[in-house]
Amino acid sequence: MNPYAKDFPILDQQVNGNPLVYLDSAATSQKPFQVIEAVENYYKTMNSNVHRGVHTLGSRATDAYEGAREKVRRFIHAGSTREIIFNRGTTTGLNLIASSYARDNLKEGDEIIISPSEHHSNLIPWQQVAKKTGATLKYFELEPDGTLDHAKAKAAITDRTKLVAIAHVSNVLGTVFPVKELASWVHAKGGVIVVDAAQSVPHMKVDVQDLDCDFLAFSGHKMAGPTGIGVLYGKESLLNAMEPIEFGGEMIDTVELYDSDWKELPWKFEGGTPIIAGAVGLGAAIDYLESVGMDTIDAHDRHLARYAMERMEEIEGIQIYGPRENRTGLVTFNLDSVHPHDLATVLDAEGIAVRAGHHCCQPLMRWLEVTATARASFYLYNNESDIDRLVAGLRKTKEYFG
Ligand code: PLP
Repeated sequence: MNPYAKDFPILDQQVNGNPLVYLDSAATSQKPFQVIEAVENYYKTMNSNVHRGVHTLGSRATDAYEGAREKVRRFIHAGSTREIIFNRGTTTGLNLIASSYARDNLKEGDEIIISPSEHHSNLIPWQQVAKKTGATLKYFELEPDGTLDHAKAKAAITDRTKLVAIAHVSNVLGTVFPVKELASWVHAKGGVIVVDAAQSVPHMKVDVQDLDCDFLAFSGHKMAGPTGIGVLYGKESLLNAMEPIEFGGEMIDTVELYDSDWKELPWKFEGGTPIIAGAVGLGAAIDYLESVGMDTIDAHDRHLARYAMERMEEIEGIQIYGPRENRTGLVTFNLDSVHPHDLATVLDAEGIAVRAGHHCCQPLMRWLEVTATARASFYLYNNESDIDRLVAGLRKTKEYFG
């Protein structure tokens, strides 16, 4: 028995008459008691609006909300809480950079470079920026195993490159992209790097100062935290020069009839009542992940991916996508010509939850020359016996579809 599984109450149930095996953490992770109780405790003992209330509950809620910001700062090693903006998640963070920084700083003749493996959330905003500013959207070339060749990637970045946007970890291929190197190459040419860390921050130690990234976005719900809360990290100098894109309560300093000015960082980007309970829950998730240790989680998830690939390859007709080395805890695959939705349906009947579809990566599906794939993704509560169950389920699928 995995020592952490007992902390996740949802896992202790039968699905379709079988014990649940949850292998869809890349879509959203499950939540431990510690997080569920922190959110419950917030609502039971301190719920109130933040920053304005003079009363006791108001200061408790403000302390809890701002305390969570400090936990996030420490977790990703940002220099200051002014660089930590709470929002709804990765998608919201990436769109803020596109709608504010990129639209105001890019023009015709400039280039944006992304990878064909990007999640739609880190692809469509840049298409929109290109359309609105006249900048050109370009793509890094992926190697056949879904990695970047360093020399080719470096050469693709030129004086025209004003922005590189890339996932730290691909949600389909499991590839760990060389963010630190890309940051140094793009900085040498005067551009900035935006990192989609939705699949890295939950699974490995991420240090924004060490990576020297300019912006980095991630989602609480993929890292044992609640849905509806996310984080955008940005370098203070860049955030300071950026305009807010949401205007209203909470983000203002003074408001006159015909003009207004904004609060300082980070609040100028947090218009409206913030996601207070979500931030408190995310703080509890960080405490929980730190109590296990990010290096332990990273090693565990990578071990499970290796074990899964080895076991799955015993099945004839399995096609696994992505690199063999330096990949994180997910395995994307197809089995013979069985449609991934059929495969996921058979597995569900066995109580095994996997993802099937395009995983919000339609251009990558075209690059892989498939319409869809299945994906099994792992987290600290999984163990080898979950993968044995998956492999047994895949054998059953194979028999079923002959
Ligand atoms: N980027 C990657 C790599 C993801 O895996 C996801 C979620 O699946 C996202 C972005 C979007 O995250 P959210 O839906 O939490 O905004």
